[in-house]
Amino acid sequence: VDHFFTKLIELAPEAVVKDTEIVAKLSKDYYWYSPILEKDLAGKQAEYVIVPETEKILKDTLQLAVEEKIPVTLRGAGTGNYGQAVPMTGGLVVDLSKLNKVIEIGDGFVKVQAGMRIRELEKQISNTGQELTIYPSTFVKATIGGFIAGGSGGIGSVTWGNLWDGNVLSAKVLTMEEDIQELIIEGEELMDYIHSYGTTGIITEVTIPIKPVTSWVQELISFTHLQEAFQFSKQIAQDNSLKKRLVSVCEDPIPSFFRPLKKIVTNKDQHLVLIEIAEQDHGRLVEIAHTHNGISIHTVEAEFYRKGIGISDFTWNHTTLWALKADKSWTYLQNFFSLESVLSQIAQIKERFGDEVLIHVEWLRDRGKLIPAGLPLVKYQSKERLYEIIDFFNEIGASVNDPHTYLLGAGGWNLQLESIAKKKKENDPFKLLNQEKLPAYDLIKDYL
Ligand code: FAD
Repeated sequence: VDHFFTKLIELAPEAVVKDTEIVAKLSKDYYWYSPILEKDLAGKQAEYVIVPETEKILKDTLQLAVEEKIPVTLRGAGTGNYGQAVPMTGGLVVDLSKLNKVIEIGDGFVKVQAGMRIRELEKQISNTGQELTIYPSTFVKATIGGFIAGGSGGIGSVTWGNLWDGNVLSAKVLTMEEDIQELIIEGEELMDYIHSYGTTGIITEVTIPIKPVTSWVQELISFTHLQEAFQFSKQIAQDNSLKKRLVSVCEDPIPSFFRPLKKIVTNKDQHLVLIEIAEQDHGRLVEIAHTHNGISIHTVEAEFYRKGIGISDFTWNHTTLWALKADKSWTYLQNFFSLESVLSQIAQIKERFGDEVLIHVEWLRDRGKLIPAGLPLVKYQSKERLYEIIDFFNEIGASVNDPHTYLLGAGGWNLQLESIAKKKKENDPFKLLNQEKLPAYDLIKDYL
């Protein structure tokens, strides 16, 4: 009989997952978006999974894992795309989805347990006339802790920036020291936890900023020329007098992959701009679209916002999802185009790769700077070809954040890896948390 399993059962019989199929399921995330990760991570599986319902059970479980030196991988909803939540060395997966209570809603902030689903959180705060600043397009499933530890930005980022732009105010974190400590993290130190894949600690609570609620209208605008779609999207993204939550551009034929929009996107050869804009600015938006030869093809009025399928269900990495549903051979990249030369960069990519690469851009702010962030679709042929495409993007200055690796830092954004590695040494001296996700390169290898 397995000694650690017996101890887990003694600790919290109801919380331990016994069904091996569920153990297998809770060992995976959405890494299969990448044909490379699909191969690399096949068969990686936890030996144990626990779904604690109280912080006490969570703490006791972690203490036991430290005593027994069992590797621990945290899980929110497992919607990450880079195998962030996959246990590389087996061990224990701790699913935090039942630690999901709102603790306090104040004026301008909410304090919540990490396992809370983001849509549910937004519903609860909307009762106080407030709303979230940013959230991923997976908000229906994703947890707030998983977003902070594994995500970057999403709806709202065109105005409010990414996770590291003031969208996390504080976090309560458990360490994996011999005696587990509870830390309150604020200010700059949060950067050691945001998008760190839970390698530096277990986030149990977060406080995030919220804003007075806005009535959002969703709009689909269609263009015959990609250049015009871009110029329009840029003007909207740059105009601070227009209040918006989302500005996305999808090159033809991406809109044809959006099956639920079949009756709306009827014209062939059209590029789409997908927008969420404050109700009071909607009229101006449509007028500006006309000046760029854009045609409004669908409007979701504010009263129907988030009721049924919405425009944002076709943006961010949901765009890739619809492409994959249409044809499994699509995959994607993440890159930052340059604000000044985005059009010439796109022209170079199209000239070189044609329809092997389809342009998809999300406008966002990163540390205050407006960026056309690419999530281009790529028709996958081979690993070599994919890296040829990545090299070309990098050569023309459209720098790629490689989403085809599970290593922290490569697929993520501008991370302070050295600082994260130092923090890991302090908080996780037995190196149990999310093993093998930190890259062992020179700068940080002394800390690992
Ligand atoms: P998980 O996948 O469960 O975990 C993510 C990482 O955080 C893992 O490394 C895990 O170990 C760690 N972790 C989880 N909980 C904790 C905790 N409490 N403490 C410490 N570490 C923890 N991402 C975006 O940023 N923006 C998007 O718009 C977006 N769109 C997406 C669209 C699709 C269709 C898909 C499949 C993915 C998308 N993603 C996006 C990626 C992902 O959905 C989000 O990052 C999501 O917020 C992750 O939340 P989760 O609860 O599923 O986290």
